[in-house]
Amino acid sequence: MFIVVYKWLKVLELNFIFILNLIKKNIACKPLPFSTRVFYCFLIGYIRDKFYHLLRIAHHKAYIHPLPEGHRFPMMKYELIPAQLLYEGLVNLSNFMEPTLVDREIVYLAHDKAYVDALLDLRLDPKMQRRIGFPMSKDLVERELYLIDGTIQACAAAREYGVAFNTAGGTHHAGRDFGEGFCLLNDQAVAAAYLYAQGWAKKILMIDLDVHQGNGTAHIFEDHPDIITLSIHGEKNFPFKKERSHVDLGLPEGMGDEDYLAVVQEQLETLLPAINPDFVFYQAGVDVLATDKLGKFKLTIDGCKRRDELVFEACKRRAIPVEVSMGGGYSAQIKDIVNAHVNTYRAAIAIYDF
Ligand SMILES: [Zn+2]
Repeated sequence: MFIVVYKWLKVLELNFIFILNLIKKNIACKPLPFSTRVFYCFLIGYIRDKFYHLLRIAHHKAYIHPLPEGHRFPMMKYELIPAQLLYEGLVNLSNFMEPTLVDREIVYLAHDKAYVDALLDLRLDPKMQRRIGFPMSKDLVERELYLIDGTIQACAAAREYGVAFNTAGGTHHAGRDFGEGFCLLNDQAVAAAYLYAQGWAKKILMIDLDVHQGNGTAHIFEDHPDIITLSIHGEKNFPFKKERSHVDLGLPEGMGDEDYLAVVQEQLETLLPAINPDFVFYQAGVDVLATDKLGKFKLTIDGCKRRDELVFEACKRRAIPVEVSMGGGYSAQIKDIVNAHVNTYRAAIAIYDF
């Protein structure tokens, strides 16, 4: 009983301004009995709580781009992550938002115009194409534009609901004027620059916990006073020429759960109060797992999930919205990759009470 009353009070509180506006617009000019107004208020609150307090997830079928047979990038995960979320009943179709193609002008906020134009017009030189590692095509570059819009949409949702996801993205190796390591454009960097330009956020922290350094993100925001980059990665992992993040922690090979989680927790508890961001981007790469073919850490699946929980708990406690992009994952078994990514959603659903 108390829980029900509390929930209704919460609904009323959440919708106070909305309800006031509605009363002002529609009811004030047509006086209705008090009980009718109360009924409408509860009804609207219920509808909003039922249908709109959702974990919002950006996803587009264009994320699943066909690659040549035997290509080492596990593109299939972008199909399996939403499928697994639905299969487990963690979400339903109303949780998903479909991105559109982001405007080229927005991409210029974080990337060099000449690079963007060459990439999108399929004029990139062969050396840069090899550095990226995907065969170029119109569909592939369009995929990047959907990805970026997905991350921007997730930012808007995170501002409202505390956290929101993109089922792909975290393309953190793309720098201002280059792409590499399966990254053409940097979705979170473009979204961060866009949020900042729009005045939606005045101080942003980019938390990058992929096993590889977020060199592209660091390159883009190297001298930025208000978009701060944190990268906790394997020192011996790709990229071998590291860029300078605002805070870099290059960790030794073989890091296990305990040592790794202590480092992550210490950084969160130090940086969040020191920087006091009003928005956080989280690159939640799962190539920190012991099963990963490219990473050199030794995290268990539970350790990887605990890492996600630490980020969400720290941000939620301080009421800082978080956008999550997936990042890397190259375990031999696709089920390990998908399970670890889905754990990030499981952690958010539990912590944010979706
Ligand atoms: Zn990675």
